[in-house]
Amino acid sequence: MRIALISEHASPLAAPGMEDAGGQNTHVAALAAALAELGHDIRVYTRRDGPGRPHMVAMRDGVTVVHVPAGPPEPLPKDALLPYMGDFGRWLGDRWDQDTWTPDVVHAHFWMSGLAALTAANPRGIPVVQTFHALGVVKRRHQGAADTSPPQRIGFERRIGRLADRVIAQCRDEARELVRMGVPRSRIALVPSGVDLDLFTPDGPAVERLGRRPRILSVGRLVERKGFAELIRALPYVPDAECVIAGAASTGEARRLRSVAEACAVEHRVRLIGQVAVADMPAWYRSADVVAAVPWYEPFGLTPLEAMACGRPVVATAVGGLLDTVVDRVTGDLVPPRDPRTLGHALRRLLRSDMRRFGYSSAALDRARTRYSWQRTATQVEAAYRTAVGARVEAVTR
Ligand code: UDP
Repeated sequence: MRIALISEHASPLAAPGMEDAGGQNTHVAALAAALAELGHDIRVYTRRDGPGRPHMVAMRDGVTVVHVPAGPPEPLPKDALLPYMGDFGRWLGDRWDQDTWTPDVVHAHFWMSGLAALTAANPRGIPVVQTFHALGVVKRRHQGAADTSPPQRIGFERRIGRLADRVIAQCRDEARELVRMGVPRSRIALVPSGVDLDLFTPDGPAVERLGRRPRILSVGRLVERKGFAELIRALPYVPDAECVIAGAASTGEARRLRSVAEACAVEHRVRLIGQVAVADMPAWYRSADVVAAVPWYEPFGLTPLEAMACGRPVVATAVGGLLDTVVDRVTGDLVPPRDPRTLGHALRRLLRSDMRRFGYSSAALDRARTRYSWQRTATQVEAAYRTAVGARVEAVTR
């Protein structure tokens, strides 16, 4: 199949770990590669966010990234992109009219890509598959007035959910939310994200440890909802342990985290190491005794899976995708969100027991390898594409 992946703000060529670059960038890059492995011809359309970007870039065999001119050619926060989605969609449609390359199916990532995808694909009879990655209703519920999404987001997401041929939910929690939004259950496919099992392995170099402190590692974009502040507040309950946080630290959030650490008198045990290149991530995971993934809410959450694939036990909050990936008391411990005390106790108990950590590690590795390969994810996504294409053909021939 010719497959168009639309990822308006999250380029598969960008390095994850910045405020607006994270799991979606990793997801789109890996999904494109895995679909190409299955023999498909992939084009990834992302917004041109710099003047020097070539129009088309060959990412690997079978995957071309196309930079779409929509809005100024400069980096913009994703919450400022809505006004350019009309142009994005029209450009795609024109392109497919003129080009010899027209997609058999369009797969949109994030709600704004869904708008562009429907604008281009609907009039041309091309089926659209939608992955939201995050939902406005959930964000609003947790962030309230701090949510900077455009006010139209929730309404648009409902419309996209109803108009798309298939909607991919990445976890059971998201599927429930989609049904509540009015997406017909029969059009939802539950397909979890994958993890790069060639890169994230238990064997290989580990970042050296300077002292003797047990290490808790946490990885992610340094935004409030990722729960790094609660992790720091949990440290007083975990004597001795050091906490290493990976993710771009150039924001006000880094300053806030440092002051939380000072207020808890644990600043000497907290290290913000900044953005880590994808290739160096496995060595950081391997260096940790336990990996903490403690967001307030989480649409999917790649970092616990990466930790599991490196054979590391995970302490995670019992939210969103983490309820599916982390099996409580088997591959890790689940704790309530925004509860530093319970989190601290779970970390301390795990760090004290070599047996428990060993048990969790091997179960975690086994679970990541058997259930979360990109090949498995791509095969299930491919099935969703075929259903979407098949339903259109049936509708035309009926
Ligand atoms: N990441 C990275 N370097 C960093 C911080 C994060 O490569 O300094 C990667 C991390 O390994 C993971 C992704 O960014 O692949 C974050 O994905 P996740 O689903 O955990 O969070 P999201 O960004 O989607 O909220």
